[in-house]
Amino acid sequence: MIDRIKRAVTGQGQKRLFCECRHCGSRIDDPTTNCPLCGSSEVARYDLES
Ligand SMILES: [Zn+2]
Repeated sequence: MIDRIKRAVTGQGQKRLFCECRHCGSRIDDPTTNCPLCGSSEVARYDLES
């Protein structure tokens, strides 16, 4: 499942979404969920244009 998300995110090459927990700083693949590590809902979203 994670592989599928990675492919969907990185495979397009144009625009990538990078999400990071504001609390613990862990990388989050799915921005619609809370942080899987600390459970925080404060997730920073970055839209990266290549
Ligand atoms: Zn966290």
